Amino acid sequence: MSAIDDLPPLREVIATHGLSARKALGQNFLLDLNLTAKIARQAGDLSGSDVLEIGPGPGGLTRGLLSEGARKVLAIEKDARCLPALAEIADRYPGRLQVIEGDALEIDPLEHLTPPIRVAANLPYNVGTELLVRWLTPQTWPPFWQSLTLMFQREVAERIVAQPGSKTYGRLAVLAQWRADARIVMSLPPGAFTPPPKVSSAVVHLTALPQPRFEAQADVLSRVVAAAFNQRRKMLRAALKGTAPDIEDRLIAAGIKPTDRAEQVPLEAFCALAREVAKG
Ligand code: SAM
Repeated sequence: MSAIDDLPPLREVIATHGLSARKALGQNFLLDLNLTAKIARQAGDLSGSDVLEIGPGPGGLTRGLLSEGARKVLAIEKDARCLPALAEIADRYPGRLQVIEGDALEIDPLEHLTPPIRVAANLPYNVGTELLVRWLTPQTWPPFWQSLTLMFQREVAERIVAQPGSKTYGRLAVLAQWRADARIVMSLPPGAFTPPPKVSSAVVHLTALPQPRFEAQADVLSRVVAAAFNQRRKMLRAALKGTAPDIEDRLIAAGIKPTDRAEQVPLEAFCALAREVAKG
């Protein structure tokens, strides 16, 4: 295996700093630096970008991002045990790695970043899904990021790129495809991680569109889609009952049959419905 930098191999880093994986923090580490460099390449040309990395852990992906030329990496990590290992990487790449200790759900990283900004992360999937929804639903568009390159459980990745009519089509597909191009760019078996998780994983790459595909208010679309898919087996006139008065009329005005189920409704029609609901 060729080295991507002259820092110690990740197994040695983990042993030196006592980084036994903690389940509560969703720690499944990537220790193959050629693999992390490959993931970093999926994030696009990094040389002119700042990269926000969430959950660097012992720093495998961080090293990939830096060796692939990221202008600067801002890494947010909740586990203080990882900080000495990350400090060694910062020393190796002077001025290019800043680490913040804390919970990514509570930290606003923007004051430390200069556009263009790309996001890359291998995160526990519940934190990843929550951050993805936040990154997709700011009130104004375009967002602070140009692209998101994120590791998910394979099943979650499939939900992000799903098309209407499929079982995996739902809130994540609608929100992601409304404002971004989303593709699965890599698949990884459990054995790629230490310790191996129970399921396979996949990397999803999302590129922010200059403007959303169809007009809608993010908060209203998010609310309508959540209600529609919360009871995905029900007809929409029942599933959306609490969303707005006269919901049947609004569904019809949006070109949707009130007897349809959420799974059948394309993105454009959900946006039309969000506009009808926003009329108050
Ligand atoms: N990026 C490393 C890699 O690929 O080997 C580690 C990946 S591991 C799946 C997830 C990392 O996210 C862990 O280092 C964990 O401590 C960190 N983490 C978990 N929850 C977090 C949160 N809310 N905010 C920031 N980091 C978090």
